[in-house]
Amino acid sequence: MSRVLVIGAGGVGSVAVHKMAMNTDIFSHITLASRTKSKCDAIAKSVLERTGVTIDTAAIDADDVAATTALIKSVKPALVVNLALPYQDLAIMDACLASGVNYLDTANYEPRDEAKFEYSWQWAYQDRFKDAGLMALLGSGFDPGVTSVFATYTKKHLLDRIDTLDILDCNGGDTGLPFATNFNPEINLREVTAPSRHWESGQWIEGPALSHKQVFDFEGVGPKNMYLMYHEELESLAKFYPEIQRIRFWMTFGDSYLKHLEVLGNVGMTSIEPMMFQGREIIPMELLKALLPEPSSLGPLTKGKTNIGTIATGEKDGKARTVYVKNICDHEEAYAETGNQAVSYTTGVPAMIGAAMMLTGKWRGAGVFNMEQLDPDPFMDMLNQHGLPWTVEDLAAPLAF
Ligand code: NDP
Repeated sequence: MSRVLVIGAGGVGSVAVHKMAMNTDIFSHITLASRTKSKCDAIAKSVLERTGVTIDTAAIDADDVAATTALIKSVKPALVVNLALPYQDLAIMDACLASGVNYLDTANYEPRDEAKFEYSWQWAYQDRFKDAGLMALLGSGFDPGVTSVFATYTKKHLLDRIDTLDILDCNGGDTGLPFATNFNPEINLREVTAPSRHWESGQWIEGPALSHKQVFDFEGVGPKNMYLMYHEELESLAKFYPEIQRIRFWMTFGDSYLKHLEVLGNVGMTSIEPMMFQGREIIPMELLKALLPEPSSLGPLTKGKTNIGTIATGEKDGKARTVYVKNICDHEEAYAETGNQAVSYTTGVPAMIGAAMMLTGKWRGAGVFNMEQLDPDPFMDMLNQHGLPWTVEDLAAPLAF
């Protein structure tokens, strides 16, 4: 039985808190804090209606380390679950160190003024967390998160040696809107417009953004164009699995989404360079974010399924084998259960499970950890029990290039 403080009242925070409230044997007391307290209160109301559990709420600017430290000290949680934005990661890690509390997030740190995410900033906290006897778990969402747990499970149970790993992320959801991003637009558009990068024979291979695609027939969705992209978990997978010769990440995008993105990019709306507009400085990407629908408002509109998994090739008992581990999640079912669509659901549930792993002591340690370093079995069990069931399938042939 443990107290938990969740920071961030977006779609992911909402799902995580609903799921925690469904598991009060692990999460005995929940506080949700975010920049806008009214959003926390709306989530608290939904949690009470759906689960009968009352949670506390608070306003916090998590960029303010002193204020966040004071909040943590007053809430006295065993764990802070950071579901705000990647920009807040370091400030919240600092506040956890200052108050002596464990830390978890779902996205690696990204500076506001540079569209670049990597683990180096957070890995640099290794000694401080270790010396304090505290645990920081990085990237406990779906991707990063579950995809790394799938890889670790594959290595533990399905293959003696992994030669190649492909991560396939398909959102077959349709909002009926001409253009909307299914999680924070600023983070989403920064990710999609970045050059592609994959790991091959010990080095990163870069290419222009969205320049390499292939069609894949996703169960529950149908055939979709998927594009080679850079994604966070490639960095930790390459670090913790040096045996893997090639690691790639693929994400599906519809033609209409890409056309909007191209036009917005061409007119400069996706830029993060500050510019002067009518006498004041604005950042075009932030203006665009304000114009686009809030991801948390997409829940009632989204129909269809997500299908995210890993295809690994390698050897088992001396024979070549290709295995596909995946989860399919239905947007409307996710919405019925938590009031949020499947992209928030597939992130919020693993955040809850990662938190449960830490609070129950199944995952324990001092220092900064990635998902690849921890036993996949109890996490995989909880995925099956808490709304993200997975399957393992042998494929006749590896994914083509
Ligand atoms: P949203 O934008 O919907 O929500 C973010 C929340 O954080 C908002 O409530 C926002 O407050 C709050 N927030 C922002 N800045 C601060 C601050 N300085 N102090 C306190 N609260 C703040 O995002 P999502 O819920 O979609 O995503 C949450 C996180 O999950 C992101 O880091 C995202 O990158 C990550 N993610 C990870 C995935 C994975 O698979 N690993 C997939 C999808 C998302 P306000 O409402 O006032 O703006």
